[in-house]
Amino acid sequence: MRRQRSKRLKNNISKEQLFDAIITTGLPIGLFIVDGGMNIIEFNRAAEELTGWKREEALGRQCSEVFRSNLCGANCLLKKSAFMKKAFIGEKAVILSKWGEEIVIFLTSSAILDEDGRVIAGIEIFKDGTESAKLEAQRKNFISVFTHDLKHPVAIIGGLLARLLKGKAGDLGDKQREYLETVYKENLKLNNAIHNFLDTMQLQAGKLRLNRTPCSLERILFDLVREFKILAREKGISLDLELPESLPILFLDQHQLEQALSNYLDNAIKYSRQGDRVMVRTHEEHDFVVVEVQDQGAGISREDLSHVFEYFYRAGRGNDRVTGTGLGLASTRGIVEAHGGKAWVRSEEGGVGSSFFMRIPKEIAEEPEKGGN
Ligand code: ADP
Repeated sequence: MRRQRSKRLKNNISKEQLFDAIITTGLPIGLFIVDGGMNIIEFNRAAEELTGWKREEALGRQCSEVFRSNLCGANCLLKKSAFMKKAFIGEKAVILSKWGEEIVIFLTSSAILDEDGRVIAGIEIFKDGTESAKLEAQRKNFISVFTHDLKHPVAIIGGLLARLLKGKAGDLGDKQREYLETVYKENLKLNNAIHNFLDTMQLQAGKLRLNRTPCSLERILFDLVREFKILAREKGISLDLELPESLPILFLDQHQLEQALSNYLDNAIKYSRQGDRVMVRTHEEHDFVVVEVQDQGAGISREDLSHVFEYFYRAGRGNDRVTGTGLGLASTRGIVEAHGGKAWVRSEEGGVGSSFFMRIPKEIAEEPEKGGN
């Protein structure tokens, strides 16, 4: 059947008929074309099926009238495409069908410009994304539940290992200490990875909730530095804490802030070499307390410096030997900003090293509290 039909088309067909057979009727993904005024001039069968609009109804209407999507108006991809002179491919969008049903689609938009840069036409092709959006939501939910389930046993293991290492269950021989320290260190890595991952999911969904209580930053830093000394010692790196006479009590989500600081400390040790020194300092600056984690490690190149706080960014050089996810700094910045603070870095290559800073307000600002993030 198919072979016969294509033979007939091949022999007698006009350009219009070919267009109709391939684009309007045959193309299995939605397509419409607009003129320079955004009026629909072509609307294929798959677009009819997806949107509920008939071709005859759609032709001549403004595209935003038919294709009611979250990307219409100021976010119109065709306008962006014309402005940026590039096509947008596979963007996720939600449209309203003619019957008011929300449909997730993946949309590709390209504006066609004349020699003077004016839009003469626009092409939009799209496919139903409902199934993949559902699968994506299920996948995220599964990962989140799974990671939550890992969090508690890992925390318990860490707590018990710390007690063993402190000698709470009796004296340890050298070998026992060595093995336990290795287990403790690996567990710490796992713990960090889990927390960074969960924080990332919450931050990206705009759902990071802070549970603020009055906290002693001194105490938090003291405990963290003690914990990280195990990692540092193993790499032959010294880790020291320099505290001022006193620091004010801050209203923090202690657990989140510990995570944010752990990422700085973990990196400082990870990216330092044997014999290097890592210093943790704090000072007050007007209405803020500033924490600095300074290392003498590999440093960060100028090109990488403005990107290291981005999700999944791993700076090029020196990373081949060091494992990581590229989530730590992004998660730290998210947590610090949720506290109304700021996170930044100064760094130089060539043995100078890096200083990572976070500035935390002494008083709770109104806004983050209200929004809970
Ligand atoms: P990762 O898991 O890769 O360490 P991060 O988000 O913690 O992810 O850091 C992002 C990148 O920033 C790292 O891959 C590394 O290249 C760079 N970086 C972070 N901290 C330091 C540091 N103290 N010294 C040198 N480079 C660093």
